[in-house]
Amino acid sequence: MDFRGWHVYDVGMIEQKTGAENGVKLEDIVSLCKRRGFIFPGSDVYGGLAGTWDYGPYGVALKRNVMNLWWKMFVTERDDMYGVDAAILMNQKVWQASGHVDTFTDPLVECSNCHGRFRADKLEKADTCPNCGQKNTFGEARAFNMMFKTNVGPVDDEASISYLRPETAQGIFTNFKNVVDTIYPDVPFGIGQQGKAFRNEISPRDFVFRSREFEQMEIEYFVHPDAWEVSFDHWVEQCKKWFTALGLPEGSVHELEVAEADRAHYSKRTIDFEFDYPIGREELMGLAYRTDFDLMNIQNASKKSMEYRPKDGGAAYVPHVIEPSFGVERAVMAVLCSAYWHDTENDRVVLRLPYELAPVKVAVCPLARNNPELVAKAREIYAMLKKELGDVLWIDSGNIGKNYRKMDEIGVPYCVTVDFDTLEGDTKDTVTVRSRDTTEQERVTTTDLFTLIHEA
Ligand code: ATP
Repeated sequence: MDFRGWHVYDVGMIEQKTGAENGVKLEDIVSLCKRRGFIFPGSDVYGGLAGTWDYGPYGVALKRNVMNLWWKMFVTERDDMYGVDAAILMNQKVWQASGHVDTFTDPLVECSNCHGRFRADKLEKADTCPNCGQKNTFGEARAFNMMFKTNVGPVDDEASISYLRPETAQGIFTNFKNVVDTIYPDVPFGIGQQGKAFRNEISPRDFVFRSREFEQMEIEYFVHPDAWEVSFDHWVEQCKKWFTALGLPEGSVHELEVAEADRAHYSKRTIDFEFDYPIGREELMGLAYRTDFDLMNIQNASKKSMEYRPKDGGAAYVPHVIEPSFGVERAVMAVLCSAYWHDTENDRVVLRLPYELAPVKVAVCPLARNNPELVAKAREIYAMLKKELGDVLWIDSGNIGKNYRKMDEIGVPYCVTVDFDTLEGDTKDTVTVRSRDTTEQERVTTTDLFTLIHEA
């Protein structure tokens, strides 16, 4: 076992198959998520609420690791990116100017027999109700606006209408001027934001893939109108780097160049990155060239200039925008599907998560929990590791084999076992470290263990 690879995604020695090839089913993922405390149905105790999901202890850790990795890669580590965290509730003018009030709709059809309501463009058979099986029971599709409407303040009138934001992007556009006025960055530069988005999806489905409440990570990258192609290509490459960092196998993500007829009206070029989910090849994230559509809308509606004045005294202009739009849930789902491995040789299920994404990095298990000396030693090692790594788990229930199986399913890269040999003899102060991916075990001194972690 090479400990120098401690922080490295070390499943290279095991052939990694794409989602479609490794045979993982959506039920496998859903069941593991529930069984091991990753993701539960929202409001579970009351029978659920369609399209909502709650993250449990390991799920929230995994999700945060995904989001933190994104923030590190795309905001902290770059010198042309700035972060914002805008309010979810925004002035209704935002959604009027952006076009969402009028056009953020999906086509809705209702079955005249069972009164089931469906999204017309997602029906498997356009003339057959998927609920009651009757044919030709749908009337004309009507445009259904997906924004959740609410009122801000105690008065329920037109002026108090607001919406739960259906995308995080508008919170970036509305802060464009604030960022330019306070930071005055050179163009090109980008603003990134992470946060909740809400869409009243007609048919939420496929686990967290299509939820009514979900999380987005979006970047608006502001460029000179003549330079959009270079930045677009740059972001295609950055997206690919991101997929690798998530541990998605090569060949599992596909670029779909969206045809003009299928693009949003403001977009001059869009690439959808699709992933081979167990439910089929579906959109993981999108990359769009949004021109100056949003800033011009804001300029026209607010009567405030969105022009950028180049520092070299050149003519002012309204920047154009490249938008990489990442969905957290779809990323988490792709990570889970890629990491899920049924190791038939060892009869176990393993989540081969990249180290950086693993919700727990190391588990510490005392071999016996009724021996105070052993437990005290194990606690000491646990405390040390916890101080260094944070995400360390103490596990002293069940037998050691069962513990390993459980840790494999949670995706814990290393288990450290403290046994009687740790306490005395030639092996005093040594522990057994077991690798999740190979099940190999090795005895190392605690000093080596700590040094290796320090060096990693
Ligand atoms: P779809 O066509 O699948 O409905 P979209 O094209 O409407 O998606 P965008 O508006 O481009 O999606 O949103 C950007 C990203 O946000 C998507 O690529 C996806 O990752 C995520 N996303 C959108 N809607 C949902 C949802 N209902 N549940 C989970 N993630 C979503």
